[in-house]
Amino acid sequence: MIKILSKLLLVFVCLCMLTVIVPGVCASEAFSYSGEDALGIASSDKQIEEISQPELSKAIFSIDGATTDVKTGITSDSKDTDELEKQYGVLNIPSTVLTYDAVSFKTVKLNKEGENSIKVYLYGKEYDLILERSNFENIDDGIDSYNGYIKGLDNSVALFTFDESMGKSLVHGFIEFENEQVYVVPVQTRENGLKTDNPLHIIYSSKGVANPTEEQIAEIEKIYSENTNRLGVTLPDAGKFPITSDLPSSYSPSSWATVYVLVATDYEFHELETNWVSSAQSYMNHAAYQYQRPDIGVFLNVAEYDDSKKAILSNDPRKTSDPFELFREKFPASYLDSKNADIAVYMGGNDITTGEFATDQGMAFGYGRYPDDECRYTWSQMVADNVPFYGFVYDGSLNARRYCVIHELGHIFDANHQDSQGTNKAYLWLENTVQKRSVMWSRYLGTTNICEYSSPSYHGDSTHDNAGAIRAVKHNIAALV
Ligand SMILES: [Zn+2]
Repeated sequence: MIKILSKLLLVFVCLCMLTVIVPGVCASEAFSYSGEDALGIASSDKQIEEISQPELSKAIFSIDGATTDVKTGITSDSKDTDELEKQYGVLNIPSTVLTYDAVSFKTVKLNKEGENSIKVYLYGKEYDLILERSNFENIDDGIDSYNGYIKGLDNSVALFTFDESMGKSLVHGFIEFENEQVYVVPVQTRENGLKTDNPLHIIYSSKGVANPTEEQIAEIEKIYSENTNRLGVTLPDAGKFPITSDLPSSYSPSSWATVYVLVATDYEFHELETNWVSSAQSYMNHAAYQYQRPDIGVFLNVAEYDDSKKAILSNDPRKTSDPFELFREKFPASYLDSKNADIAVYMGGNDITTGEFATDQGMAFGYGRYPDDECRYTWSQMVADNVPFYGFVYDGSLNARRYCVIHELGHIFDANHQDSQGTNKAYLWLENTVQKRSVMWSRYLGTTNICEYSSPSYHGDSTHDNAGAIRAVKHNIAALV
């Protein structure tokens, strides 16, 4: 039955809504502890010089002995970013970031086996960062990811990717604690990063970024709803579509499944990132962390980071109108099979600017197409959107990117939006009077989006159970190759 439906009816066009935001956080308050110009560098007529250790970093987060301040307490309305760009070239700083620290890193030595305890500073206070290697990939490329927590901070989560593959140190970091997230990201382009001994990173907090107001969120939801109706998108119920019955009965929802993912990119994203592979790996680290939760039970393994077709993707005009269809055509099922990849993610460096998907940042046919080949693909936009009014929320930041990747992957596993007709609904809840939304929420709304799937085990209930939807179909996805 599903094959007679037009493809359009089953494409999930996601994360469509964006908005222009009046900054809601006073940047000067957020970082007032550090004292401005504490390091006395980067005056407008002097070249920015790195301060060497042993002076303690003034950044909001630092790794003991490995973090070098370049300039701390920078606000987006100052001239400091211009000064940095004179030395480091154009910087990939999301437009929503109001205040940040600029740093570089030395090699952080970690044990790939067992637990690591690393001395770090968070807002000037010393902690132990506990990390162990994430086992979602074992590609020997000098790039390794870890997950863990900050000792002494309840319910904290830490996800890090360390990249030494270019003979220099790149760090992708994420720490969540209490009601705050701290991000560490390299910000130079590939070309400029290759020319820099100690590539530039920024560190910023979720409390130092602009977020949409409740009124703007309401407006975004309204326009999403109108857009959904226009496209006639249907939201299939969990279990509505056939699940193959020829799998061994030992493939029960409680047993673990291993799904292999091909991660591909185009020329634009390849050039945008200091090293696109470690950027991509960091998002897959975030995804694998969610899939390895006990109530989901999926090892999400990367089969390959594939930039072999980057020019082919970027030379095709569909990159800005229908990158999903472009991806599927250039990476046919036979190609995925040859890479032993069950599914494929296209981390794209272009915004859709023409056609009916112009406001979208992610696409997937989803489990509704299973077992047709179409179910195996997702596209996630890695750059900011440019739609007026909405264009500010989807900012291409680490938070937006990880959300978009995990969201689209969820569709492959039958996870669905808040208005699903089934039990696979996204979930909305209040945390200290702040609204939070699970990752399958149909729009990216800044830091109110949490990257976990709805689940009765954490945030959700029996009718808001995307973890259960994933659990139910995971072996079918794992058996695609
Ligand atoms: Zn979606």
